[in-house]
Amino acid sequence: MIVAMLETATEDQIQDVTDHLMRMGFAVHRTTGARQSVLAAVGKRIDFDTRDLEVLPGVERVHRISAPYKLVGRQFRGHDTVIKLPNGVEVGGKNVVVMAGPCSVESREQIFQAAEQVAKAGAKVLRGGAFKPRSSPYTFQGMGLEALKLLREAGDANGLLVISEVMEISQIEQMMPYVDIFQVGARNMQNFNLLRELGKVRKPVLMKRGIAATIEEMLLSAEYIMSGGNYEVILCERGIRTFETYTRNTLDISAIPIVHKLSHLPITSDPSHGTGLRDKVAPMACASVAAGADALLIEVHPDPDHALSDGAQSLFPQQFDELMGQLRMIAPAVGRTIG
Ligand code: PEP
Ligand code: MN
Repeated sequence: MIVAMLETATEDQIQDVTDHLMRMGFAVHRTTGARQSVLAAVGKRIDFDTRDLEVLPGVERVHRISAPYKLVGRQFRGHDTVIKLPNGVEVGGKNVVVMAGPCSVESREQIFQAAEQVAKAGAKVLRGGAFKPRSSPYTFQGMGLEALKLLREAGDANGLLVISEVMEISQIEQMMPYVDIFQVGARNMQNFNLLRELGKVRKPVLMKRGIAATIEEMLLSAEYIMSGGNYEVILCERGIRTFETYTRNTLDISAIPIVHKLSHLPITSDPSHGTGLRDKVAPMACASVAAGADALLIEVHPDPDHALSDGAQSLFPQQFDELMGQLRMIAPAVGRTIG
């Protein structure tokens, strides 16, 4: 950490800040310039708050150099994390994994149709919500356990793995036999108790970025899961809330290369929630792959106009099939394959 002192800082103030840093466990190297002194604090600690120094008398600015996380950072693991799923599919390798299906499981017929359609188009993982985090308590809340059973059956029948959202700790055990990947929704990215429990689980967790979360906050949330011992974490950019009203959210595609630079963990893009509009999903899926996404999470419904949730952003099966064709052309341009 670098602490720049004000031009007007007194020797006593500089000494106080130096003492404070040393009490925190840092070695302090002072550079005295013609007008200003700068203190370089070197040490292993990452659990500090720079504001504690910013408020000390005589301090002008504090700049943090080391990342506040350990396990998710590139320093911890030099190579990219590749997560091996039960059927041999890998997330984080050369192949971009496509996860697709409806927002929610609505009926046996709907999820079986969806599974068949997305499998035929080349998806490897079936998505579908059993427990739905809806903004309104009066809208469809999901079919719960019944949906999990249907998802598993439909997935198995079509050679697909299964991903579904876990909303609370008590659901983890219930979901265990039915899902291959636990999804943590945007609203739960900072449900630290849930993240800690998922740290004990031995199944991959796809954790979505919160609607108002910085990239650093997303990485710190992933650190909660990893620090519990579960290193199989897949991050997911799903759009953040901005001042733009044309789209439901603003899909922050720049988060993809930024996460790749900071972390060894794979990152997924969800252009469905990222835009909220069906006709924007394909272009943003293509852009995500071009930007380096390791996986895509896409909502596809056999009959989107009658979907019980997120119909407007769900692709018709035919559109999904066409999108897969486009992705197969884009992926090789960035050294990837699709499937
Ligand atoms: C979903 O995937 O259907 C969902 C609710 O996503 P998010 O948590 O990104 O809103
Ligand atoms: Mn949805």
